Amino acid sequence: MTINTSAHSFSSQEVSSLDDTLAGLDLAQRLAFIAGLGGRAVFTTSLGIEDQVITAAIGTHRLPIDIATLETGRLFAETVKLIDETEERYNLTIRRFYPQQDDIDAFAAKYGLNGFYDSVEARHACCHVRKLVPLAKALEGASFWVTGLRRGQSGNRATTPFAEFDAERNLIKINPLADWDIGLINAHVAAENIPINPLHARGYPSIGCEPCTRAIKPGEPERAGRWWWENDEKRECGLHVAEAAQASIIPTAS
Ligand code: SF4
Repeated sequence: MTINTSAHSFSSQEVSSLDDTLAGLDLAQRLAFIAGLGGRAVFTTSLGIEDQVITAAIGTHRLPIDIATLETGRLFAETVKLIDETEERYNLTIRRFYPQQDDIDAFAAKYGLNGFYDSVEARHACCHVRKLVPLAKALEGASFWVTGLRRGQSGNRATTPFAEFDAERNLIKINPLADWDIGLINAHVAAENIPINPLHARGYPSIGCEPCTRAIKPGEPERAGRWWWENDEKRECGLHVAEAAQASIIPTAS
């Protein structure tokens, strides 16, 4: 198939066709197919278990997909350590994108450094400064944004496609693990001896910033430990908020 990646303009038919094509491929083939389309592809990793599976595939098959992470300044020490370990293991570079100190200072002056606990508005403002602004930098010039979203992570992500147009960022979002369940992820990690965050074994299936992530209890949804003090079941950090908003209209995505 041909996609006009240079123009950063994608028809719904092209995206639908790409989704169909990816559905028939395995993980490595999906990633290789995207890498072969010609536009810049960026994979953003949170170092969570799904993202480690994708990083391992990119590194093992030496695929020309840039890897980036949002180093928010509030990550768990285990996550920061895993960035270095993963680079060494797969002989690749995970580019770190940091928030601007001026933005952090402005947030802290208005809300307090940990003001995200006090209101959804403050939490979104913190995620904007520490995640969304750095994400925009990471995705500059990209035609394809590869993510580790899975349908089984939450009801909000239950219909995650393999390919979708991100109108806000004018690129195609690729979710190559959309149809993998956590059992398959765990089996693959064990079989390939992929390094993962030790926090997973301590009750953290989904790992974000340290002050905003807690371990979950048996039977809780995978993402119940993220921003646990908020009641909105569709809470997201804003990286995938467009999909979250769409989900209330057309059930559709770190
Ligand atoms: S997850 Fe928490 S600490 Fe991290 S950017 Fe969002 S509000 Fe701030």
